[in-house]
Amino acid sequence: MRCLFEPRLVNDAFGDPGLYVDFRDERRALLFDLGDISALPPRKLMRLSHVFVTHTHMDHFSGFDHLLRVVLGRKENVIVLGGPGFVEQVEHKLRAYTWNVVHRYEVELVIDVREIGTDGRGQRARFSSRTGFARESCAPLAPMEDVLHDEATFRVRGRFVDHDIPCLAYAVEEKAHVNVAKNRLSALGLSTGPWLRELKHAVLTGASDTALIDVQWRDRQGEHAMTRQVGDLRHLVLDVVPGQRIGYVTDLRYTAANVDALIALLAGVDLLFIECVFLDEDAEHAARKNHLTARQAGEIAHAVSARAVLPFHFSPRYQERPSDLLAQMHAAWSGT
Ligand SMILES: [Zn+2]
Ligand SMILES: [Zn+2]
Repeated sequence: MRCLFEPRLVNDAFGDPGLYVDFRDERRALLFDLGDISALPPRKLMRLSHVFVTHTHMDHFSGFDHLLRVVLGRKENVIVLGGPGFVEQVEHKLRAYTWNVVHRYEVELVIDVREIGTDGRGQRARFSSRTGFARESCAPLAPMEDVLHDEATFRVRGRFVDHDIPCLAYAVEEKAHVNVAKNRLSALGLSTGPWLRELKHAVLTGASDTALIDVQWRDRQGEHAMTRQVGDLRHLVLDVVPGQRIGYVTDLRYTAANVDALIALLAGVDLLFIECVFLDEDAEHAARKNHLTARQAGEIAHAVSARAVLPFHFSPRYQERPSDLLAQMHAAWSGT
């Protein structure tokens, strides 16, 4: 199945946490967490429309400066979203520099900051390079339950977990996925072409059934063309199936309330990225540090019925034996 998203960890499992979600066939990407992002080349940072931050410990937020430096004067806007206190924290980052010349840059950069409170209510502020990044207030955010961002083809949901401080766990969800029924296509005497991409786009973005598609194709008899309604074509040549869902879970302690929150967010998730910081023999240390052990991460993967799991955020103390963390996580995930 060809999905909308191509997710990839920014660093190796011992590096700073971060997930880059590229969009296939679009010059567009999302980023989860802003720690050390120097492994991402500028062209990949320029593609970011949204950055979702779990919490502002340094390994998750120190890369804000790097991002700002790359996009300043080159990119028009970026939306960054985080938990309680986030607007003020971004404002403090921006206040740490001197901005006496940026208003003259040809490309204006607007940083749109969104903050979600633990009560589910949000606020928003805007910082423009034209005004030296002075804070401008915006209308408050009103997220629908746990949906933090919603577009025609995908949504991002988030729920708080406890890491001694509130920390956001995220789900990225493709709304639907369409497969082309090749056998039905050829039975109708049709062949693929740009019209098929147009049809898929129409279906995924919820176009009206009466919208028209110009079907053009060629075969041994020559060129053909006809016009058909989306509603007719979709049943003839497409199968619409549920879209891909990805989970990004990092920095939390192992508590029943956290497991419940993650089940509500991620039940049946296709691909789960989850922190796997300590070995279970160091469980007391993990609890003191408000992190999961590999076994606990595997138990969460099992509880949410994750179909695939990618662990990360390994403690440097296991540099010589990452396979022990992997084995422990896999055993708990598979229930052995
Ligand atoms: Zn961390
Ligand atoms: Zn942390």
